[in-house]
Amino acid sequence: MKPIRIAHLFPDLLNLYADKGNILTLRRRLAWRGIPVEVEQVRRDDPLHLSRYHLVLLGGGSDREQALVGEVLRKQRAEWASAVASGLPLLAICGGYQLLGEYYETAEGLKVPGLGLLDMRTTAGSTRLIGNIAIESPECGRIVGFENHAGRTEHRHLPLGTVLHGHGNNGQDGKEGVRYQNVIGTYIHGPLLPKNPRLADFVLQLALAYAGAPAELSPLDDALELLAHEAFFQRRIVVGRG
Ligand code: GLN
Repeated sequence: MKPIRIAHLFPDLLNLYADKGNILTLRRRLAWRGIPVEVEQVRRDDPLHLSRYHLVLLGGGSDREQALVGEVLRKQRAEWASAVASGLPLLAICGGYQLLGEYYETAEGLKVPGLGLLDMRTTAGSTRLIGNIAIESPECGRIVGFENHAGRTEHRHLPLGTVLHGHGNNGQDGKEGVRYQNVIGTYIHGPLLPKNPRLADFVLQLALAYAGAPAELSPLDDALELLAHEAFFQRRIVVGRG
């Protein structure tokens, strides 16, 4: 079997809150099942050939890094649009998620244009939305993690899930993240995938299907991850101390 090729974009700029743990999780969960995987780090000055990849990851970053990355991404806007339309799986976190929309407007009123792949806009508020977050996703069940963003995001697509605890896209409408084609956007760091094995396997299944090798992923022992979920819910939701 040919390896699943994953692009880790701008690992030096978009790397908040251990986002690289997402890559480790994808790598391991494939390796444990005997599925070959190659991860390529793509930096700002490297050429990006989207057609090489079966999965692309964009992490979170501060406003400054986001502006630098946005500039690079926009040069390949047409390629991004056709890759997403053809079903390229793309996981984008926080700053990376915001860059999928029309723009991110900073608290100072500076508009950082995004890729415009989604009908979505983000504007920074005067406070940051910070803390533990839990959502319910129709595709992946409960997802837990941590959020820290000034941006308030509004979009016209399906959300990744509904907020059970925390703020989500804008702290107002009870929605978190986005689902569009094979794109998943979310504010959840922590990192996201080690704590949420069901979501990790969902992403891997999208990548395998896109690579032309759809597979039923054999179950793994996720007891530790599920324990972390339970702990989160007992403290934050059931007791309601959060
Ligand atoms: N610039 C963004 C915000 O604060 C992104 C933050 C992040 O990636 N954690 O809204």
